[in-house]
Amino acid sequence: MRELIIVGAGPAGITAAVYAARKKIDFMLVTEDIGGQTLLSSDVENYTGYQFITGQDLVAKFEEHLKQFGVEAKTGEPAVRILQAKDGSFTVETKKAAYQAKAVIVASGRRPRWLDAAGEEALRNKGVSYCATCDGPLFSKKHVAVIGGGNSALDAALQMMHIATFVYLIDINPELGGDPIMREKVMAAANAKIFNSAVTKEIRGSQFVEGIRFEQNGVSRDLDVQGVFVEIGSIPNSDIIDFVAKNENGEIIIDNINSTNIAGIFAAGDVTDVPEKQIIVAAGEGAKAVLGVSRYLYKSGA
Ligand SMILES: Cc1cc2nc3c(=O)[nH]c(=O)nc-3n(C[C@H](O)[C@H](O)[C@H](O)COP(=O)(O)OP(=O)(O)OC[C@H]3O[C@@H](n4cnc5c(N)ncnc54)[C@H](O)[C@@H]3O)c2cc1C
Repeated sequence: MRELIIVGAGPAGITAAVYAARKKIDFMLVTEDIGGQTLLSSDVENYTGYQFITGQDLVAKFEEHLKQFGVEAKTGEPAVRILQAKDGSFTVETKKAAYQAKAVIVASGRRPRWLDAAGEEALRNKGVSYCATCDGPLFSKKHVAVIGGGNSALDAALQMMHIATFVYLIDINPELGGDPIMREKVMAAANAKIFNSAVTKEIRGSQFVEGIRFEQNGVSRDLDVQGVFVEIGSIPNSDIIDFVAKNENGEIIIDNINSTNIAGIFAAGDVTDVPEKQIIVAAGEGAKAVLGVSRYLYKSGA
């Protein structure tokens, strides 16, 4: 029985681990990867102390910091579910083992939302991507479609306009959302075309993506593309715990010291209902969560 298990090692989980180590809390880290969504960011310009750093370099710095403390980390071993025992302690189950602790910090972040169009699942990683920053270079001189109309879709379209020959932006809404500056850049591009009120129905292809089919004002249309970037937002990785209160978006509800409605379960970062989804915010929330846990362990006499 440890004092604490931290689930997830994005900015929130890594910062929590650094704070827990410095507080000499007996803890372990259970995570799918080290870095989380920050690995997907090609340029981070809003993390204090770095005017510019790539997401991967920032994660390398985080990891270096973590290594100083010799943290027990189960990487590549995602939590499958978290259970509560009658004595108030918790079990974090993975496919390999079950770990027990008096407190848990859920810092499992978010994952991309799927389109749920025909062909999407079969062609994932065969032309269907959820990260232009990561996979964009694979589509040099090809035709691609970006699905979505918010900031992440606009960002993907802007990136792809410099890499691909032509970019189609397929937006379900009648007008693009996102920041006006980004919108204007996409609308002015010579190698981009926007389809509004367009519902993507199918991603076509036998082995790799060959095209998409969408409906616009009741008319079915086909485009030949070799890549499809799905940029329609993300969902919280909160399904591993079903006994804490969540909001209508599935985000874990926390108070200002990162407690949930269940004593001993804390949460931090993008998996929570804190509205700002940013690296520096997630890192700060991870720190706050450990300070909350430390008080909780002290009060409960652990
Ligand atoms: C493309 C892109 C670019 C971005 N650019 C910026 C930027 O420039 N500046 C900025 O401030 N923010 C940016 N963000 C947002 C920022 O990356 C997130 O706000 C931040 O990473 C959230 O940190 P987190 O630790 O809460 O979650 P995440 O980064 O999502 O990390 C979650 C961690 O939990 C792990 N995990 C998931 N499920 C499980 C499970 N079941 N069991 C165990 N572990 C699990 C993951 O492997 C990961 O280690 C960007 C996001 C994206 C997608």
